[in-house]
Amino acid sequence: MMSVAQLPDPPPAPPCVHKFGGSSLADATCMRRVAAILQAQPATPAYVVVSAMRGTTDALIALAEAAMQASTDWPGRLAQLRERHLACADDLLAAHAAATRDWLDGQFAELRDLLAALAVLRTPNREASERVQGLGEVWSSRLLRDLLAAQGLSCARLDARDVLVVSHGELGASVDWDDSQRRFDAWRAEHARPWTVVTGFVARTPDGRATVLGRNGSDYSAAIFARLSGAAELTLWGDTDGVLSADPRLVPEAVSLPELSYSEACELAYFGAKVIHPQTLTPAIAAGLAVRIRNTFAPDHAGTAIGTRATAASGSPVKGLSAVQQLAVLTLEGAGMIGVPGTAERAFGALHAAGVSVVMISQGSSEHSICCVVREADLARARSALESAFERELARGAIARIAGEAGISVLAAVGDGMAGQPGVAARLFGALARSSVNIRAIAQGASERNISIAVASSDATRALRAAHAAFWLSPQTISIGLIGPGKVGQALFEQILAARERLLRDHQLDLRLRAVASRSHLWCGESHLAANWREAAQPDGDLEAFTRHIHAEHLPHALIIDCSASDAVAERYADWLAAGIHVVTPNKHAGAGPYPRWQRIRAACASGARFRYEATVGAGLPVISTLRDLLDTGDELHVVEGILSGTLAWLFNRYDGCTPFSALVREAHALAYTEPDPRDDLSGTDVARKLVILAREAGVPLELADVEVESLVPASLRCTDAATFMERLGEFDAAMAARHARAHDHGCVLRYVARLDRDGHARVGLAELPATHGFAHLRLTDNIVQFTTRRYADNPLVVQGPGAGPEVTAAGVFADILRIVQS
Ligand code: ADP
Ligand code: ASP
Ligand code: MG
Repeated sequence: MMSVAQLPDPPPAPPCVHKFGGSSLADATCMRRVAAILQAQPATPAYVVVSAMRGTTDALIALAEAAMQASTDWPGRLAQLRERHLACADDLLAAHAAATRDWLDGQFAELRDLLAALAVLRTPNREASERVQGLGEVWSSRLLRDLLAAQGLSCARLDARDVLVVSHGELGASVDWDDSQRRFDAWRAEHARPWTVVTGFVARTPDGRATVLGRNGSDYSAAIFARLSGAAELTLWGDTDGVLSADPRLVPEAVSLPELSYSEACELAYFGAKVIHPQTLTPAIAAGLAVRIRNTFAPDHAGTAIGTRATAASGSPVKGLSAVQQLAVLTLEGAGMIGVPGTAERAFGALHAAGVSVVMISQGSSEHSICCVVREADLARARSALESAFERELARGAIARIAGEAGISVLAAVGDGMAGQPGVAARLFGALARSSVNIRAIAQGASERNISIAVASSDATRALRAAHAAFWLSPQTISIGLIGPGKVGQALFEQILAARERLLRDHQLDLRLRAVASRSHLWCGESHLAANWREAAQPDGDLEAFTRHIHAEHLPHALIIDCSASDAVAERYADWLAAGIHVVTPNKHAGAGPYPRWQRIRAACASGARFRYEATVGAGLPVISTLRDLLDTGDELHVVEGILSGTLAWLFNRYDGCTPFSALVREAHALAYTEPDPRDDLSGTDVARKLVILAREAGVPLELADVEVESLVPASLRCTDAATFMERLGEFDAAMAARHARAHDHGCVLRYVARLDRDGHARVGLAELPATHGFAHLRLTDNIVQFTTRRYADNPLVVQGPGAGPEVTAAGVFADILRIVQS
């Protein structure tokens, strides 16, 4: 007889545990998505821990409260919850829903009886309330199991109230591992199937009552069942791409973290990151379990891996930011504590005795005060505990006061990479200072893995966003708003859009054009408006809404571009600048408007915000920056003169005395070289404004009214309508021709020139210039500006080139933006 060596069975593959949160199980569509994810998993035994359908736990808590307060609306709310679950069963199981429906019906009937009994008793009843809270998981587990079974999987359902034994202590629910393991093994021996759906959140007390693990406790349940079942992997499925660098509801820029160490994940969870329940990791660490956080709604995303491996040192030293709300600061202060041993011990002993848990401690090395952070709800109790503990010291004056202040949040920056890295705290505090967040107390653990900062709750979101920007965004990220989407505005928009990627890649400049405002419309985008931005108008936005959107807390800088020609917009510059918003504009109203307003605008720059207006003179030509460089380097301006109007330059370049002047004006008008009403150019006011801007730049406090202006609009045509003006301009051709002839006789040409003398005298008007003069040979609409200074005395410094047109004007504005961001 041949003997066949009996090969031992290969050891069974360790099971996997998956946990799905309430948002992943919100309705039948979500449940089918979950089933599809499970069907795609490798064929190892799996435990699927579920939360209640989204919102169910809240609804159950409210129902129990309502019944205990004998309010009358609970039966209606109960009916809604029942209807939602029955409808889900029908949707999932269609013709095969009957058994599930009957079971659910029985469940809801029992719950109705329980609530009715509570309504009669009218007293708070913790046991009953805990029992009710956990029912959502009981129901959702049945729905998912029946769906998986209907799809052909061999699937059991485990009610955790049968096996998981916990007792409630100071640190939350603690597991009786021996008892739970015994019960779990017994259950498994009898019911094992390849798939098991397990109720999350619920458990039993040692005396057999139903209880719960605390809000968000299904994560903890999953880690417990992973340990009980000897699993190798735990995946928590939620509605984000893993653990994000901050709560995405507070920080829109939050990014997914590929890896976290156990300790980083613990710190984040303790400090309020709702994505993992803080107790989850304790059993996971004990079992060395690989934990993954993944997105049910994006199953292809790798999510976050949490494990023992030290996480990559690259990138930001801070891994995540979180905030705990509803806290209070408690301060014990007095000279009598200096050098007295045991004061801290007595203080914290008293708080412990009063059952107050301390979130954060900070003591200055002078020992003059001890400050700690406790939950807001514990403040009164904590304070009176300290007052009685230090009664004698208070009476003697050794302790001056015990102060408590509610409305505090603690912001925590967490990351293993912070250890031994200088400068992390500086970056964090610098960011908070720039956002005017006042820091109430600071603590850094000796592990250097967590810096905790107490701030007023009203500052918490701003602080979180500023800190996030400091570590995750390019420091040159700038939130930009554009007012006036006319020709220049549109050209600028296109230029920024075209340069955006290159600037980000080569210079880490992240320019985000996030809003455009016209006189009647507002267009807003969260990150950046796309090329088709005009399709998304919000008709009733105003400049207040625009400003709020641009001055976003989660982006490091804000900048407003005013491409309007409106004085009302210029009126806002000072406020914007004072609030720290940079302003860039080709609008001449601020630069040439009332001098006191100009001074107010300049003074507002003390906030650190910058105001630039290069394109107000000579469009894209570097006129103002040249003047500023001369003066900043110690030069002294003697005379500035030039041709500052493209329109007038063109007219006089072309005018030869033969073609009537009025015909040239008509031609220029047809070529769109003039304003719609050519008198705006011919009056010289626009040129005068530019001269005022240059004068003020040179420190001369000039007003527009101080400029001597020669208008080329005949006095009798100043008040007519534009059409009449054009018609009748010919009547003055002869006079202009005579002027031209006179100049010609002198060997000169006519040019419309602006000039500021050394004594502050400013004039704009027609001048006869020798035919050899530099201003006599310009091309087309070119501008020219000539600076005569102490250094450039004999041979003036000249800036010359195209001085009009949307493209070059927009480029001048764009250059201003880059100068601000790069400085
Ligand atoms: P689930 O039903 O999946 O358990 P929860 O209601 O418990 O979901 O909360 C998950 C939510 O926590 C996420 O949708 C997100 O808004 C929020 N959250 C807070 N901090 C973070 C963070 N650091 N990373 C990811 N999500 C976070
Ligand atoms: N359903 C429970 C809650 O809402 C537990 C959980 O979802 O994790 O808190
Ligand atoms: Mg959760």
